[in-house]
Amino acid sequence: MQVRYSTKLSLQEYIEQEAWNQAYLDHCPFHPEGGCGLARHGFYARKLPEYCLIARYYCPKGHTTIGLIPDFFCSRLPGTLDEVEHAVNVAQESKSQEEAAEKLRPEITLTSALRWLRRRIRYVREALTTAAGLFTPGCHPDLKSFRQWLSSNRVLFRLRRSVSDFLQHLPPVVGFGPRITSRYFNEFHLQQ
Ligand SMILES: [Zn+2]
Repeated sequence: MQVRYSTKLSLQEYIEQEAWNQAYLDHCPFHPEGGCGLARHGFYARKLPEYCLIARYYCPKGHTTIGLIPDFFCSRLPGTLDEVEHAVNVAQESKSQEEAAEKLRPEITLTSALRWLRRRIRYVREALTTAAGLFTPGCHPDLKSFRQWLSSNRVLFRLRRSVSDFLQHLPPVVGFGPRITSRYFNEFHLQQ
């Protein structure tokens, strides 16, 4: 599983300071009462947008590894929250998704770039739909509305920090919960 490593560091600072060495988990998310033998369990690498490490713990009682994801990183997707938000903003400002995909990923084929872009659009919509349902009923689940609600142009990053107690209920890329199934999502979305 993944949990939040609360940090104000940027990706560059995280790399320069090798901050994964400081990332610390003070209790097990499964056994907050302790006694499960929670211990450090090395690191794993993330390669995009730059190589860096993620601190990992292991809960022997739950047979689970726990990754400490710094606030700027997406969960379940390579790259940063700002990169994903930028891609979705570009898509909204472009005449078509094709135009945005070519602009964002000129080095790959249009088909791959579109898949890459649509995946990000969907992740953002899922995260914002759930967040709107939980925290701001009536708020439209798009970046524009959330920019106003959070008074920030870094919506996904701010959302990660603002709703930190609920991240296990929020789908990726902001939260650490499961993706919402398309059936549930469509029903949920239609009610908005
Ligand atoms: Zn545990």
